[in-house]
Amino acid sequence: MSAITTIRPALVGKLNERQVLRVLQARGPLSRAEVARESGLSAPTVSKAVASLLKVGFLEETDAVELARGRPAPKVRLATDTAQVLGIAIDVGHYELVSATLDGSPHGPAVRVPAAHDYETLLHALERAARELMDKPGVRTLGIGVSLPGLVDSRAGRGVLSPNVPITNGHAPATDLEARLGVPCALLQESHALCLAERHYGLAKGMDDFALLDVGAGVGLGIISGGRLLKGRSGLAGEIGHITAVAQGGRKCGCGNTGCLETVASDSALAWHASQKLGRAVNADEVIELVQSGAVDLRAELREVAGFVSVGVAAVVNLFNPAALFVHTPLFEIDPALFDLVCELARQRALPPSFAECDIVRAKGSKLQGAVAGVIQHLTDAVAPELV
Ligand SMILES: [Zn+2]
Repeated sequence: MSAITTIRPALVGKLNERQVLRVLQARGPLSRAEVARESGLSAPTVSKAVASLLKVGFLEETDAVELARGRPAPKVRLATDTAQVLGIAIDVGHYELVSATLDGSPHGPAVRVPAAHDYETLLHALERAARELMDKPGVRTLGIGVSLPGLVDSRAGRGVLSPNVPITNGHAPATDLEARLGVPCALLQESHALCLAERHYGLAKGMDDFALLDVGAGVGLGIISGGRLLKGRSGLAGEIGHITAVAQGGRKCGCGNTGCLETVASDSALAWHASQKLGRAVNADEVIELVQSGAVDLRAELREVAGFVSVGVAAVVNLFNPAALFVHTPLFEIDPALFDLVCELARQRALPPSFAECDIVRAKGSKLQGAVAGVIQHLTDAVAPELV
């Protein structure tokens, strides 16, 4: 009994803070009285929760006021000028950083850091770029989210196997950056980051059952089922890119196997076709520009890649019965008609009842937005955990 009675007041306080945050995330900026009206909490409870959130830097008072009974009452909002979070996306061939407010809006354009050939150089470059973004007088950096491709052990916070960025294998970039920079850092698998981006800032707002297929240098998958991210035992779930799509004579995959889906259904696959045609090595970033500029005609190859992407789409529709499947890929920038082609081919391959229930949608969010959403969620959970 004593344990329950001592825990309960602290827990109730945290739940109230969570509720205040939720109202301000949805409606802010608001005065304390408006927060009380919106949340159904009492005025003293709101004042206490707001005071606690101001102290940890989550909220700030604004110049705007609400006139309550003839007296000006300052409005509060999620910290915009006095605190920031950083998002870092580790991707194939380049790394990006951005600074954002506590409601996820970027403070400016993303900073690009060139590719590194070893992990120590990568860490050093990220640390330097992060320090530049953190060097703002009067602004507290509350946390950093790091998006990482490949298999990420969420329990250990460590990259396990990244076929496309192998220098991160066995490393824990968020833990290492936290030690160097002295601020909390959260590691997210990149497909999971894209799910969060779509849910917080994209077209999946309020959706509890959706999937996101990420077709880039590799092929990743994030599943939100019943409002929760499907992680598997250690966060390794969703590696659709490494199911076998070509049983005989398939090309070698970064994972060591042959004929994996991502060897035929990715922009790397298109880059491979371009390399064969041009007689020189072309990477995934270059191939988009080459096709757009008309330097190489890959119409037939694009149709082939789209066909394999539709295999992935149909598999996800059949396996997970999502209400929506978001497809994130630079391939659609080459030719928007490819999206329609993928949808039509997926319709032919998927089970009709499952396909009829699923909207196929072009994703809007980015990995960088996902890293930002991830660290905000991480910090929110740390300050005011949600009861489930
Ligand atoms: Zn593979």
